[in-house]
Amino acid sequence: MNALRPPRAPLKPLDDALIELLGFATALSAVEWVSTFDADGRALAQDFVSGLQVPPQDNSSMDGYAVRRADVVQANGQALSVSQRIAAGTAGTELAPMTVARIFTGAPIPAGADAVVMQEDCELTKTDTGDTVRLAGVPDLGQWIRRAGEDVTQGAVVLSKGERLTPASIGLAASIGLHRLSVVRRPKVALFSTGDELVMPGDVAPEAMKPGAIYNSNRFFLRSLLVRLGCEVTDLGIVPDRLDATQDALRAAAQDHDLILTSGGVSVGEEDHIKPAVQSLGSLDLWQIAIKPGKPFAYGKVQGAHFIGLPGNPVSSFVTFLLLVRPFLLRLQGVSDVAMKSVAIPAHFTWARADKRREFLRVHRNAAGGLDLFSNQSSGVLTSAVWGDGLVDNPAGQVIQAGDMVRFISFSELLA
Ligand code: AMP
Ligand code: MG
Repeated sequence: MNALRPPRAPLKPLDDALIELLGFATALSAVEWVSTFDADGRALAQDFVSGLQVPPQDNSSMDGYAVRRADVVQANGQALSVSQRIAAGTAGTELAPMTVARIFTGAPIPAGADAVVMQEDCELTKTDTGDTVRLAGVPDLGQWIRRAGEDVTQGAVVLSKGERLTPASIGLAASIGLHRLSVVRRPKVALFSTGDELVMPGDVAPEAMKPGAIYNSNRFFLRSLLVRLGCEVTDLGIVPDRLDATQDALRAAAQDHDLILTSGGVSVGEEDHIKPAVQSLGSLDLWQIAIKPGKPFAYGKVQGAHFIGLPGNPVSSFVTFLLLVRPFLLRLQGVSDVAMKSVAIPAHFTWARADKRREFLRVHRNAAGGLDLFSNQSSGVLTSAVWGDGLVDNPAGQVIQAGDMVRFISFSELLA
Protein backbone atom coordinates (compact mmCIF):
# COMPACT_ATOMS: atom_id res chain seq x y z
CA MET A 1 0.00 0.00 0.00
CA ASN A 2 1.25 3.45 -0.86
CA ALA A 3 0.66 5.53 2.26
CA LEU A 4 0.84 8.79 0.28
CA ARG A 5 -2.00 7.93 -2.09
CA PRO A 6 -5.09 10.06 -1.38
CA PRO A 7 -8.15 8.16 -0.20
CA ARG A 8 -10.30 6.98 -3.09
CA ALA A 9 -13.72 8.51 -3.60
CA PRO A 10 -16.46 6.00 -2.84
CA LEU A 11 -17.80 4.18 -5.87
CA LYS A 12 -21.05 5.60 -7.23
CA PRO A 13 -24.00 3.19 -7.40
CA LEU A 14 -25.23 2.66 -10.96
CA ASP A 15 -28.77 3.84 -10.17
CA ASP A 16 -27.43 7.12 -8.75
CA ALA A 17 -25.17 7.60 -11.77
CA LEU A 18 -28.10 7.01 -14.11
CA ILE A 19 -30.36 9.48 -12.31
CA GLU A 20 -27.61 12.09 -12.31
CA LEU A 21 -26.80 11.51 -15.96
CA LEU A 22 -30.44 11.66 -17.05
CA GLY A 23 -30.73 14.92 -15.15
CA PHE A 24 -28.35 16.43 -17.73
CA ALA A 25 -30.27 15.03 -20.72
CA THR A 26 -32.65 17.85 -21.60
CA ALA A 27 -34.70 16.73 -24.59
CA LEU A 28 -33.78 18.32 -27.91
CA SER A 29 -36.39 20.89 -28.81
CA ALA A 30 -36.19 20.66 -32.60
CA VAL A 31 -38.92 18.62 -34.22
CA GLU A 32 -39.25 17.35 -37.76
CA TRP A 33 -42.03 15.74 -39.76
CA VAL A 34 -41.08 12.46 -41.35
CA SER A 35 -42.97 10.02 -43.51
CA THR A 36 -44.64 7.35 -41.40
CA PHE A 37 -42.63 4.89 -43.50
CA ASP A 38 -39.40 6.34 -42.10
CA ALA A 39 -40.49 6.82 -38.49
CA ASP A 40 -39.51 3.45 -37.03
CA GLY A 41 -37.21 3.98 -34.04
CA ARG A 42 -37.87 7.72 -33.82
CA ALA A 43 -39.32 9.46 -30.76
CA LEU A 44 -42.74 11.07 -31.14
CA ALA A 45 -42.78 14.80 -30.49
CA GLN A 46 -46.53 15.11 -29.89
CA ASP A 47 -49.66 13.11 -29.13
CA PHE A 48 -51.75 11.88 -32.02
CA VAL A 49 -55.51 11.56 -31.62
CA SER A 50 -57.61 9.38 -33.88
CA GLY A 51 -60.08 11.20 -36.11
CA LEU A 52 -61.98 7.97 -36.78
CA GLN A 53 -62.77 4.65 -35.24
CA VAL A 54 -60.88 1.51 -36.26
CA PRO A 55 -62.28 -0.58 -37.72
CA PRO A 56 -64.62 2.06 -39.21
CA GLN A 57 -67.63 -0.30 -39.22
CA ASP A 58 -68.66 -3.74 -37.98
CA ASN A 59 -67.13 -6.31 -40.32
CA SER A 60 -66.76 -10.02 -40.74
CA SER A 61 -63.75 -11.87 -39.39
CA MET A 62 -64.55 -14.95 -41.49
CA ASP A 63 -65.50 -15.98 -44.99
CA GLY A 64 -69.07 -17.24 -44.61
CA TYR A 65 -72.62 -15.95 -44.36
CA ALA A 66 -74.05 -12.99 -42.47
CA VAL A 67 -77.34 -13.91 -40.84
CA ARG A 68 -80.09 -12.60 -38.61
CA ARG A 69 -80.01 -15.01 -35.67
CA ALA A 70 -83.79 -14.91 -35.16
CA ASP A 71 -84.31 -15.97 -38.79
CA VAL A 72 -82.02 -18.97 -38.27
CA VAL A 73 -84.06 -19.96 -35.22
CA GLN A 74 -87.28 -19.56 -37.18
CA ALA A 75 -85.95 -21.55 -40.19
CA ASN A 76 -85.48 -24.47 -37.80
CA GLY A 77 -83.01 -26.32 -40.01
CA GLN A 78 -84.53 -25.33 -43.38
CA ALA A 79 -82.23 -23.73 -45.97
CA LEU A 80 -82.23 -19.93 -46.33
CA SER A 81 -81.65 -18.18 -49.65
CA VAL A 82 -78.56 -16.08 -50.32
CA SER A 83 -79.83 -12.59 -51.12
CA GLN A 84 -76.58 -10.64 -51.66
CA ARG A 85 -72.81 -10.94 -51.90
CA ILE A 86 -70.53 -8.57 -49.93
CA ALA A 87 -66.79 -8.62 -50.59
CA ALA A 88 -64.19 -6.57 -48.67
CA GLY A 89 -64.24 -2.99 -49.94
CA THR A 90 -67.93 -3.04 -50.86
CA ALA A 91 -70.99 -2.15 -48.82
CA GLY A 92 -74.03 -4.42 -48.66
CA THR A 93 -77.66 -3.43 -48.29
CA GLU A 94 -80.06 -4.22 -45.47
CA LEU A 95 -80.46 -7.97 -45.08
CA ALA A 96 -83.87 -9.11 -46.47
CA PRO A 97 -85.95 -11.14 -43.96
CA MET A 98 -85.36 -14.90 -43.93
CA THR A 99 -82.26 -14.62 -46.16
CA VAL A 100 -78.50 -14.64 -45.60
CA ALA A 101 -75.68 -12.63 -47.22
CA ARG A 102 -72.56 -14.24 -48.66
CA ILE A 103 -69.76 -12.33 -46.90
CA PHE A 104 -65.95 -12.30 -46.90
CA THR A 105 -63.34 -11.41 -44.30
CA GLY A 106 -63.18 -7.65 -43.75
CA ALA A 107 -66.48 -6.91 -45.52
CA PRO A 108 -68.99 -4.71 -43.66
CA ILE A 109 -71.83 -6.49 -41.88
CA PRO A 110 -75.11 -5.54 -43.61
CA ALA A 111 -77.76 -3.78 -41.57
CA GLY A 112 -80.06 -6.30 -39.92
CA ALA A 113 -77.46 -9.07 -39.66
CA ASP A 114 -76.22 -9.91 -36.18
CA ALA A 115 -73.93 -12.93 -36.66
CA VAL A 116 -71.67 -14.57 -39.21
CA VAL A 117 -71.53 -18.31 -39.79
CA MET A 118 -68.28 -19.51 -41.25
CA GLN A 119 -68.54 -21.24 -44.61
CA GLU A 120 -67.20 -24.51 -43.18
CA ASP A 121 -70.40 -24.72 -41.06
CA CYS A 122 -72.75 -24.18 -44.01
CA GLU A 123 -74.13 -26.48 -46.67
CA LEU A 124 -74.47 -24.58 -49.94
CA THR A 125 -76.91 -25.62 -52.67
CA LYS A 126 -76.82 -23.93 -56.08
CA THR A 127 -80.14 -23.80 -57.96
CA ASP A 128 -81.36 -22.03 -61.08
CA THR A 129 -83.24 -19.55 -58.95
CA GLY A 130 -80.18 -18.80 -56.77
CA ASP A 131 -78.13 -20.23 -53.92
CA THR A 132 -79.47 -21.52 -50.63
CA VAL A 133 -77.61 -22.32 -47.46
CA ARG A 134 -78.38 -24.72 -44.62
CA LEU A 135 -76.66 -23.88 -41.36
CA ALA A 136 -75.28 -26.48 -38.95
CA GLY A 137 -76.77 -24.78 -35.89
CA VAL A 138 -77.88 -21.49 -34.41
CA PRO A 139 -75.04 -18.97 -34.13
CA ASP A 140 -74.28 -16.88 -31.06
CA LEU A 141 -75.24 -13.23 -31.34
CA GLY A 142 -72.25 -11.25 -32.64
CA GLN A 143 -70.35 -14.37 -33.68
CA TRP A 144 -67.37 -13.66 -36.06
CA ILE A 145 -68.18 -9.95 -36.09
CA ARG A 146 -65.35 -7.48 -35.47
CA ARG A 147 -66.94 -4.46 -33.85
CA ALA A 148 -66.47 -0.93 -35.14
CA GLY A 149 -63.97 0.87 -32.91
CA GLU A 150 -62.78 -2.28 -31.16
CA ASP A 151 -59.18 -1.35 -32.02
CA VAL A 152 -59.33 2.45 -31.77
CA THR A 153 -62.16 4.72 -30.65
CA GLN A 154 -62.60 8.13 -32.25
CA GLY A 155 -60.85 10.81 -30.18
CA ALA A 156 -58.54 8.35 -28.44
CA VAL A 157 -54.86 9.26 -27.99
CA VAL A 158 -53.36 6.52 -30.10
CA LEU A 159 -49.71 7.55 -29.99
CA SER A 160 -48.19 9.63 -27.23
CA LYS A 161 -45.41 12.17 -27.07
CA GLY A 162 -42.25 10.55 -25.75
CA GLU A 163 -43.04 7.16 -27.27
CA ARG A 164 -40.40 5.46 -29.37
CA LEU A 165 -41.97 4.23 -32.57
CA THR A 166 -41.87 0.55 -33.47
CA PRO A 167 -42.94 -1.31 -36.60
CA ALA A 168 -46.30 -2.01 -34.89
CA SER A 169 -46.83 1.61 -33.88
CA ILE A 170 -46.14 2.99 -37.36
CA GLY A 171 -48.73 0.48 -38.60
CA LEU A 172 -51.17 1.79 -36.00
CA ALA A 173 -50.38 5.37 -37.06
CA ALA A 174 -51.20 4.43 -40.63
CA SER A 175 -54.46 2.79 -39.50
CA ILE A 176 -55.71 6.18 -38.31
CA GLY A 177 -54.66 7.86 -41.53
CA LEU A 178 -51.34 9.44 -40.54
CA HIS A 179 -48.89 9.57 -43.43
CA ARG A 180 -46.45 11.84 -41.58
CA LEU A 181 -45.39 11.96 -37.94
CA SER A 182 -43.64 14.64 -35.94
CA VAL A 183 -40.53 13.31 -34.23
CA VAL A 184 -37.66 14.79 -32.26
CA ARG A 185 -34.67 15.47 -34.47
CA ARG A 186 -31.83 12.97 -34.42
CA PRO A 187 -29.07 13.64 -31.87
CA LYS A 188 -25.77 14.54 -33.51
CA VAL A 189 -22.95 12.59 -31.95
CA ALA A 190 -19.21 12.97 -32.52
CA LEU A 191 -17.33 9.77 -31.80
CA PHE A 192 -13.64 9.19 -31.31
CA SER A 193 -11.37 6.56 -29.82
CA THR A 194 -8.21 7.31 -27.89
CA GLY A 195 -5.17 5.09 -27.70
CA ASP A 196 -1.77 5.01 -29.43
CA GLU A 197 -2.00 1.23 -29.58
CA LEU A 198 -5.03 1.35 -31.87
CA VAL A 199 -4.87 0.64 -35.57
CA MET A 200 -7.66 0.22 -38.07
CA PRO A 201 -8.52 -3.03 -39.77
CA GLY A 202 -7.78 -2.46 -43.42
CA ASP A 203 -4.92 -0.07 -42.66
CA VAL A 204 -2.62 -2.69 -41.19
CA ALA A 205 -2.75 -6.40 -42.04
CA PRO A 206 -2.71 -8.82 -39.08
CA GLU A 207 0.77 -10.11 -39.99
CA ALA A 208 2.11 -6.54 -40.14
CA MET A 209 0.92 -5.52 -36.65
CA LYS A 210 3.67 -3.98 -34.54
CA PRO A 211 4.19 -5.30 -31.00
CA GLY A 212 1.63 -3.71 -28.71
CA ALA A 213 -0.74 -2.72 -31.47
CA ILE A 214 -4.37 -3.81 -31.39
CA TYR A 215 -7.26 -3.23 -33.73
CA ASN A 216 -9.80 -0.60 -32.82
CA SER A 217 -12.91 -2.61 -32.10
CA ASN A 218 -14.80 -0.07 -29.99
CA ARG A 219 -15.11 2.29 -32.92
CA PHE A 220 -17.14 -0.28 -34.81
CA PHE A 221 -19.62 -1.30 -32.17
CA LEU A 222 -20.05 2.19 -30.72
CA ARG A 223 -20.83 3.60 -34.12
CA SER A 224 -23.43 0.95 -34.82
CA LEU A 225 -24.96 1.26 -31.35
CA LEU A 226 -25.34 5.00 -31.97
CA VAL A 227 -26.92 4.47 -35.36
CA ARG A 228 -29.38 1.96 -33.89
CA LEU A 229 -30.41 4.62 -31.40
CA GLY A 230 -31.27 7.03 -34.16
CA CYS A 231 -28.15 9.23 -33.96
CA GLU A 232 -26.33 11.01 -36.74
CA VAL A 233 -22.72 10.03 -36.17
CA THR A 234 -19.61 11.99 -37.05
CA ASP A 235 -16.72 9.59 -36.73
CA LEU A 236 -13.51 11.44 -35.85
CA GLY A 237 -11.45 8.27 -35.82
CA ILE A 238 -8.50 7.58 -33.54
CA VAL A 239 -6.97 10.38 -31.51
CA PRO A 240 -3.37 9.96 -30.29
CA ASP A 241 -2.62 9.86 -26.55
CA ARG A 242 -1.49 13.51 -26.37
CA LEU A 243 -3.10 16.40 -24.57
CA ASP A 244 -3.00 18.79 -27.55
CA ALA A 245 -4.39 16.19 -29.96
CA THR A 246 -7.19 15.35 -27.52
CA GLN A 247 -7.99 19.06 -27.08
CA ASP A 248 -8.05 19.60 -30.85
CA ALA A 249 -10.40 16.65 -31.33
CA LEU A 250 -12.70 17.91 -28.58
CA ARG A 251 -12.77 21.42 -29.98
CA ALA A 252 -13.72 20.11 -33.42
CA ALA A 253 -16.28 17.72 -31.96
CA ALA A 254 -17.99 20.41 -29.88
CA GLN A 255 -18.98 22.25 -33.07
CA ASP A 256 -22.49 21.34 -34.06
CA HIS A 257 -22.80 18.17 -31.98
CA ASP A 258 -25.10 17.35 -29.10
CA LEU A 259 -22.80 14.73 -27.64
CA ILE A 260 -19.12 13.91 -27.84
CA LEU A 261 -18.60 10.22 -27.08
CA THR A 262 -15.12 8.82 -26.57
CA SER A 263 -13.68 5.49 -25.56
CA GLY A 264 -10.48 4.97 -23.61
CA GLY A 265 -8.33 7.36 -21.66
CA VAL A 266 -10.74 7.92 -18.77
CA SER A 267 -8.61 6.25 -16.13
CA VAL A 268 -6.19 8.53 -14.37
CA GLY A 269 -2.96 7.10 -15.75
CA GLU A 270 -0.27 9.26 -17.36
CA GLU A 271 -1.51 8.28 -20.80
CA ASP A 272 -5.10 9.22 -20.03
CA HIS A 273 -5.59 12.71 -21.42
CA ILE A 274 -9.35 12.90 -21.54
CA LYS A 275 -9.70 14.38 -18.08
CA PRO A 276 -7.24 17.30 -18.41
CA ALA A 277 -8.32 17.96 -22.01
CA VAL A 278 -12.04 18.19 -21.20
CA GLN A 279 -11.34 20.23 -18.08
CA SER A 280 -9.26 22.73 -20.05
CA LEU A 281 -12.17 23.34 -22.44
CA GLY A 282 -15.15 22.83 -20.19
CA SER A 283 -16.03 20.75 -17.17
CA LEU A 284 -15.76 17.09 -16.31
CA ASP A 285 -16.77 14.69 -13.59
CA LEU A 286 -14.91 11.41 -13.47
CA TRP A 287 -17.07 8.78 -11.93
CA GLN A 288 -16.04 5.46 -10.52
CA ILE A 289 -19.23 3.49 -10.92
CA ALA A 290 -19.79 0.45 -8.76
CA ILE A 291 -20.29 -1.93 -11.66
CA LYS A 292 -18.26 -4.65 -13.30
CA PRO A 293 -17.34 -4.43 -16.08
CA GLY A 294 -17.24 -0.70 -16.49
CA LYS A 295 -16.01 1.25 -13.51
CA PRO A 296 -14.49 4.42 -15.03
CA PHE A 297 -16.98 6.72 -16.73
CA ALA A 298 -16.89 10.43 -17.38
CA TYR A 299 -19.57 13.05 -17.94
CA GLY A 300 -18.87 16.65 -18.77
CA LYS A 301 -19.55 19.59 -21.04
CA VAL A 302 -17.39 20.98 -23.82
CA GLN A 303 -18.57 24.32 -25.19
CA GLY A 304 -22.24 23.48 -24.94
CA ALA A 305 -21.94 19.86 -26.07
CA HIS A 306 -22.42 16.98 -23.68
CA PHE A 307 -19.34 14.87 -23.18
CA ILE A 308 -19.34 11.19 -22.22
CA GLY A 309 -16.13 9.23 -21.86
CA LEU A 310 -16.38 5.44 -21.84
CA PRO A 311 -13.72 3.05 -20.63
CA GLY A 312 -11.42 1.57 -23.25
CA ASN A 313 -11.83 -2.10 -22.47
CA PRO A 314 -14.23 -3.31 -25.12
CA VAL A 315 -16.72 -5.09 -22.87
CA SER A 316 -16.66 -2.23 -20.36
CA SER A 317 -17.31 0.19 -23.18
CA PHE A 318 -20.13 -1.96 -24.58
CA VAL A 319 -21.84 -2.52 -21.24
CA THR A 320 -21.57 1.08 -20.00
CA PHE A 321 -22.97 2.23 -23.32
CA LEU A 322 -26.01 0.00 -22.87
CA LEU A 323 -26.54 0.88 -19.21
CA LEU A 324 -25.90 4.61 -19.33
CA VAL A 325 -25.40 6.10 -22.80
CA ARG A 326 -28.43 4.38 -24.30
CA PRO A 327 -30.92 5.85 -21.80
CA PHE A 328 -29.14 9.21 -22.07
CA LEU A 329 -29.55 9.29 -25.86
CA LEU A 330 -33.17 8.20 -25.63
CA ARG A 331 -33.86 11.00 -23.16
CA LEU A 332 -32.19 13.50 -25.50
CA GLN A 333 -34.87 12.41 -27.96
CA GLY A 334 -37.58 12.93 -25.38
CA VAL A 335 -38.30 9.24 -24.81
CA SER A 336 -39.98 8.82 -21.44
CA ASP A 337 -39.54 5.10 -20.76
CA VAL A 338 -35.81 4.41 -20.80
CA ALA A 339 -35.68 1.80 -18.07
CA MET A 340 -34.02 -1.48 -18.91
CA LYS A 341 -36.33 -4.37 -18.33
CA SER A 342 -35.10 -7.53 -16.71
CA VAL A 343 -36.86 -10.84 -16.27
CA ALA A 344 -36.29 -13.60 -13.74
CA ILE A 345 -34.70 -16.71 -15.28
CA PRO A 346 -32.99 -19.65 -13.55
CA ALA A 347 -29.20 -19.71 -13.65
CA HIS A 348 -27.81 -22.97 -14.99
CA PHE A 349 -24.39 -22.07 -13.64
CA THR A 350 -22.73 -21.23 -10.37
CA TRP A 351 -20.97 -17.96 -9.64
CA ALA A 352 -18.93 -18.27 -6.49
CA ARG A 353 -16.80 -15.14 -6.87
CA ALA A 354 -19.18 -12.54 -5.52
CA ASP A 355 -17.82 -9.07 -6.25
CA LYS A 356 -18.09 -5.89 -4.21
CA ARG A 357 -19.55 -4.27 -7.32
CA ARG A 358 -22.85 -4.99 -9.07
CA GLU A 359 -21.94 -7.26 -11.95
CA PHE A 360 -23.29 -7.64 -15.45
CA LEU A 361 -22.41 -11.16 -16.53
CA ARG A 362 -22.56 -12.20 -20.16
CA VAL A 363 -24.89 -15.15 -20.44
CA HIS A 364 -26.68 -17.15 -23.05
CA ARG A 365 -30.25 -18.48 -22.89
CA ASN A 366 -30.25 -22.22 -23.35
CA ALA A 367 -32.92 -24.47 -24.81
CA ALA A 368 -33.91 -25.69 -21.34
CA GLY A 369 -35.08 -22.19 -20.39
CA GLY A 370 -32.10 -21.35 -18.24
CA LEU A 371 -28.96 -19.27 -18.54
CA ASP A 372 -25.43 -20.46 -19.29
CA LEU A 373 -22.44 -18.34 -18.35
CA PHE A 374 -19.62 -17.40 -20.70
CA SER A 375 -16.45 -18.95 -19.32
CA ASN A 376 -14.33 -15.78 -19.46
CA GLN A 377 -15.94 -12.66 -17.95
CA SER A 378 -12.88 -10.43 -18.45
CA SER A 379 -13.69 -6.89 -19.57
CA GLY A 380 -11.40 -7.28 -22.56
CA VAL A 381 -13.06 -10.41 -23.97
CA LEU A 382 -15.51 -9.19 -26.58
CA THR A 383 -16.33 -12.79 -27.54
CA SER A 384 -18.44 -12.90 -24.37
CA ALA A 385 -20.77 -10.22 -25.75
CA VAL A 386 -21.13 -12.04 -29.07
CA TRP A 387 -21.67 -15.48 -27.56
CA GLY A 388 -23.99 -14.02 -24.94
CA ASP A 389 -27.48 -12.86 -25.71
CA GLY A 390 -27.84 -10.76 -22.62
CA LEU A 391 -26.62 -9.79 -19.19
CA VAL A 392 -27.32 -11.08 -15.74
CA ASP A 393 -27.75 -8.13 -13.41
CA ASN A 394 -26.13 -9.57 -10.29
CA PRO A 395 -26.27 -7.49 -7.09
CA ALA A 396 -23.04 -6.70 -5.27
CA GLY A 397 -21.86 -9.50 -3.02
CA GLN A 398 -24.26 -12.04 -4.49
CA VAL A 399 -23.19 -15.65 -5.00
CA ILE A 400 -25.23 -17.58 -7.57
CA GLN A 401 -26.07 -21.29 -7.21
CA ALA A 402 -27.36 -23.31 -10.14
CA GLY A 403 -31.15 -23.08 -10.07
CA ASP A 404 -31.25 -19.61 -8.47
CA MET A 405 -33.51 -17.10 -10.17
CA VAL A 406 -31.46 -14.21 -11.53
CA ARG A 407 -32.35 -10.99 -13.35
CA PHE A 408 -31.73 -11.27 -17.09
CA ILE A 409 -31.57 -8.31 -19.49
CA SER A 410 -31.81 -9.31 -23.12
CA PHE A 411 -29.47 -7.70 -25.65
CA SER A 412 -32.25 -7.81 -28.22
CA GLU A 413 -34.20 -5.40 -26.05
CA LEU A 414 -31.22 -3.14 -25.35
CA LEU A 415 -30.12 -3.06 -28.97
CA ALA A 416 -33.52 -2.37 -30.46
P1 AMP B 1 -7.86 2.75 -21.53
O1 AMP B 1 -9.24 2.94 -20.98
O2 AMP B 1 -7.50 3.72 -22.57
O3 AMP B 1 -6.84 2.65 -20.43
O4 AMP B 1 -7.86 1.32 -22.23
C1 AMP B 1 -8.13 0.14 -21.52
C2 AMP B 1 -7.89 -1.06 -22.38
O5 AMP B 1 -8.79 -1.06 -23.47
C3 AMP B 1 -6.52 -1.14 -22.98
O6 AMP B 1 -6.11 -2.50 -22.97
C4 AMP B 1 -6.73 -0.66 -24.39
O7 AMP B 1 -5.76 -1.17 -25.28
C5 AMP B 1 -8.09 -1.16 -24.71
N1 AMP B 1 -8.75 -0.30 -25.67
C6 AMP B 1 -8.89 1.03 -25.58
N2 AMP B 1 -9.55 1.53 -26.63
C7 AMP B 1 -9.85 0.47 -27.43
C8 AMP B 1 -10.51 0.34 -28.69
N3 AMP B 1 -11.01 1.42 -29.30
N4 AMP B 1 -10.63 -0.89 -29.21
C9 AMP B 1 -10.13 -1.96 -28.56
N5 AMP B 1 -9.52 -1.91 -27.38
C10 AMP B 1 -9.36 -0.70 -26.81
MG1 MG C 1 -5.77 4.29 -23.48
